[in-house]
Amino acid sequence: MAVNKQMEKTPMPEQEAAVRAGNFEEVALGYTEEMALNEAARCLNCKHRPCVSGCPVNVGIPDFIARIVEQNYEGAYDIIAKTSSLPAVCGRVCPQETQCEAKCVRGVKGEPVAIGRLERFVADRHMAQEKAAAVKLASNGHKVAVIGSGPSGLTCAGDLAKLGYEVTVFEAFHTAGGVLMYGIPEFRLPKEIVQREIDGLRELGVDIRTNMVIGKVLSLDELFEMGYEAIFVGSGAGLPGFLGIPGEGLLGVSSANEFLTRINLMKAYRDGYDTPVQRAKRVAVVGGGNVAMDAARCAKRMGAEDVYIVYRRGEEEMPARLEEIHHAKEEGVTFRFLTAPVAVHGDENGFVRALECERMELGEPDASGRRRPVPVPDSRFELEVDMVIAAIGNSPNPLIRTTTPGLEANRKGCLIVEEDTMRTTREGVYAGGDAVTGAATVILAMGAGKQAAASIDRYIREKSV
Ligand code: FAD
Ligand code: SF4
Repeated sequence: MAVNKQMEKTPMPEQEAAVRAGNFEEVALGYTEEMALNEAARCLNCKHRPCVSGCPVNVGIPDFIARIVEQNYEGAYDIIAKTSSLPAVCGRVCPQETQCEAKCVRGVKGEPVAIGRLERFVADRHMAQEKAAAVKLASNGHKVAVIGSGPSGLTCAGDLAKLGYEVTVFEAFHTAGGVLMYGIPEFRLPKEIVQREIDGLRELGVDIRTNMVIGKVLSLDELFEMGYEAIFVGSGAGLPGFLGIPGEGLLGVSSANEFLTRINLMKAYRDGYDTPVQRAKRVAVVGGGNVAMDAARCAKRMGAEDVYIVYRRGEEEMPARLEEIHHAKEEGVTFRFLTAPVAVHGDENGFVRALECERMELGEPDASGRRRPVPVPDSRFELEVDMVIAAIGNSPNPLIRTTTPGLEANRKGCLIVEEDTMRTTREGVYAGGDAVTGAATVILAMGAGKQAAASIDRYIREKSV
């Protein structure tokens, strides 16, 4: 088939900005078959496969795209599924523009092949089929515990179950899925997709126990005593950073974690659902990453008239994905670049009244190589808001580390593991995902879960001979 020389990606339809800012339905609507075929024909099937080296789990990208061209969509799915356990999730939320698509040769003179959109097309088509329930394998007689049901834990549990292990996932929340379920909003990643992955694991025989905070309800030592031969810690990085400015205790100040978790788990995203989640008219979100964009876009959908992103550096330095920034702007979020918060002011009842800010300018580069923001003298001003959301980063919760003898962490609280095996400093305990890297990405967490499952299998087999 002739290569499609079109310079731009085949556009993906999406809900109009004015409409979507008032609902939680998915923004991007996915390719039709015709669009997918058009886009797949842009791939050059390069011999040296640079896109594959840009993918953290090395999905066979040109191979799956070639199957699309042949209209062999299940063949395409099988290729992706060899290395990725959550294709419908990754096709939606992976930062392809800094990974596979950044390496695509079509990107040199035009736009890269829309690898993420094609992955989503293949995964959605596969999911839409009537599938036979997954078959639970006969037990190999060995038990493994997985702590946390985010992408790292789900992947590790799935891979081990497919090898015949009896796997129990212990999840602190009442709902499984980790950040996929309670962090990333419905309009970017519908919960139904995550739920289908979780249902699939249950069919494989994985026992998922919710409301189990490990380190409080049970310790790792107790899990070993219960007969689990190895433990995977995939407890994420759920401890939010705070602003450290006066007025942070006022009513109406929260972390983005808390705000997004409430919206997701108290079902504020459902039309007509009587949710207890607090609403506000004017909201300031402090931060410039994807979490800040999600919080701002959720605040809009919760009915706020004015939503500000307050970010201390310039637009070029913003760590959020370009697509998220673009979507937030289209939906009416106002960006206040080179602006830093200095205090939150309250009214006589203790509710937020305003966020006091000061203007910044960029000075010399700091340790990260980015130019350091420095305050402009006498530039303070007040932003009248009734809600302030801090989205300035997360770190791992210390609970498991502080209740497990022999488990070591670095100074940022991230568990220390051996790179190739994901083995921690405590025998039989493996870890991966944000608990090890600090806040990172779904694909990296999934890759770590896969690597850990392979190591746990080796460990238990060697121990059993
Ligand atoms: P998590 O997904 O955090 O899951 C950890 C699980 O462990 C949680 O369910 C938690 O409740 C549970 N847990 C914690 N402590 C205990 C305990 N003591 N006992 C039992 N269970 C416990 N990444 C992308 O690639 N693309 C995106 O677009 C993107 N957007 C994001 C948006 C938001 C709002 C957030 C917060 C993150 C986003 N990320 C994104 C990052 C990505 O979601 C994470 O990197 C990924 O989920 C990490 O997976 P994990 O399995 O390590 O941990
Ligand atoms: Fe196709 Fe781009 Fe990968 Fe080449 S680099 S094989 S064009 S996706």
